[in-house]
Amino acid sequence: MTAETTSGPVLVLLDHTAEGTVRTPVRELVTLARGLAGDAGVEGAWAGELPAGALEDLGRLGVRRVHRLATDADAHLTAVLAEAVEQVRASAGAPLVLLVSSFENKEVAARLAVTTGAGVITDADALAVEDGRVVAGKTVFAGTWTTRCAITTSTGVVTVKPNTVTAADAETATVPEVVDHAVAVSERARRVVLVERTERPASGRPDLGSAHVVVVGGRGTDGDFSAVEELADVLGGAVGATRVATDEGWIGHDAQIGQTGVTVAPRLYVGAGVSGAVHHRGGMQASGTIVAVNSDADAPIFEIADLGIVGDLFTVLPQAAAELRRLRG
Ligand SMILES: Cc1cc2nc3c(=O)[nH]c(=O)nc-3n(C[C@H](O)[C@H](O)[C@H](O)COP(=O)(O)OP(=O)(O)OC[C@H]3O[C@@H](n4cnc5c(N)ncnc54)[C@H](O)[C@@H]3O)c2cc1C
Repeated sequence: MTAETTSGPVLVLLDHTAEGTVRTPVRELVTLARGLAGDAGVEGAWAGELPAGALEDLGRLGVRRVHRLATDADAHLTAVLAEAVEQVRASAGAPLVLLVSSFENKEVAARLAVTTGAGVITDADALAVEDGRVVAGKTVFAGTWTTRCAITTSTGVVTVKPNTVTAADAETATVPEVVDHAVAVSERARRVVLVERTERPASGRPDLGSAHVVVVGGRGTDGDFSAVEELADVLGGAVGATRVATDEGWIGHDAQIGQTGVTVAPRLYVGAGVSGAVHHRGGMQASGTIVAVNSDADAPIFEIADLGIVGDLFTVLPQAAAELRRLRG
């Protein structure tokens, strides 16, 4: 990105739960944005009701201004959201828009880039301003290469993966100004309407794509995920699976990690009864610390593991869970 980036605020799309709680990856994103924005500050785009608690939370994170989007169309549709974010971006004079990397937000980013001519980078796992340009780090080719890409246009759009930084409150809290925007939605964006939304039953565990800890079960579980779930719960993590496990119907397909599933980059990945096939690695190799539990000492996952335990997962995982509980008293 050119020097103009630092001449205006950084705009962050503020994803939130249906109840209006700011999601953890957004907290991380605002933390990252503060470092990039400098004096120009961080502003946010918020769709829907804005509860007082959320506004206070955004103030603690140092957000200066919250643009509340009001539209008669459904802002869950990416075509509508992209138009709304662009109208806010233009009015705020923000040269850089940051979004959490999710399927929906990557679609929003692509639409923004097409309509504005902005340079777009998706799935960034590092972000900095270098010589006046925004430079993003990105892991590619199934986690085997790390690349750096610079945005060369005056407006940039970047989607950033969860867990890229640790969320932290600002040194000085703000009282964010709330600005209402009546969004004009084009006929083109109204070509699709949302007919129905059904909330998935909550598992009580964090979202797989953004969890700090992910415990994964493979064929070695033989369909019994109880040990995997127990360790995930002790660690406050999400449960993932290999394609073998999802194809067998042992767990839902939305838990599949890998080339044809979800890509995760948690701080801690624990693979139990997972061989480490290349298709699976593609979705987890960028994890911070990789722990593997496998009864076969020659399993390929040990090549990329930071800590490898050769053993039966039904012995090792419950022991680990019990020890963690003991340490926590
Ligand atoms: C086009 C394509 C796309 C694919 N996409 C994906 C994808 O997105 N995600 C994905 O995961 N796979 C994907 N696959 C499948 C992938 O190639 C592997 O087949 C799969 O990842 C293997 O799953 P697994 O590790 O559970 O099973 P296996 O490879 O069979 O490994 C099971 C492991 O469990 C160990 N084990 C057995 N019992 C125990 C025990 N009691 N305790 C501890 N260890 C034990 C074994 O030693 C073994 O290493 C794809 C394949 C293709 C062709």
